[in-house]
Amino acid sequence: MTKLTFWVLLALTVLSVLYKNFWCRYLCPYGALLGLISRLSPVKVRRTEANCIHCHACTKHCPTLIDVENKDVIKSGECFGCMTCVSRCPSPGALDMTVKAGKNIRALRPVHYVLLLVGLFYLVIGIGVLTGKWHSQIPREQYERLIPQVSRMEHPG
Ligand code: SF4
Ligand code: SF4
Repeated sequence: MTKLTFWVLLALTVLSVLYKNFWCRYLCPYGALLGLISRLSPVKVRRTEANCIHCHACTKHCPTLIDVENKDVIKSGECFGCMTCVSRCPSPGALDMTVKAGKNIRALRPVHYVLLLVGLFYLVIGIGVLTGKWHSQIPREQYERLIPQVSRMEHPG
């Protein structure tokens, strides 16, 4: 380990103790990309003040510490659309994942939100495959060996 590596790691450790999820919230390049997409996306979490009972559950459970309870629309780049706030909300119609099309705003049911995300995921891959831009250095045999073992694998985090 070089001296620079040591000091960077020490700084990150200290900052992570002082600020929850410091790396993920402020430095992670993947998080920055997701944040940019989140800002441009027509799909957003929206709160309806008339139905909100101000129980604080949404703000308390948001993993990126967004003050959901006091916002009408979550425009923050830190929102990655996990829907934890929506699922924790005890008041029907107070908090929804919504999609905006022109002037219309519609609440999305969780199953539709999931289908939208999965559809988008495969659409992007499909376009890559059809245009010949999707390349992988992992040989097909490796996929065939690993996929049956997926249920035994764990995320390192
Ligand atoms: S969707 Fe997730 S990240 Fe976004 S505000 Fe709700 S709990 Fe926070
Ligand atoms: S969880 Fe729902 S009811 Fe409670 S503060 Fe948030 S939006 Fe309002």
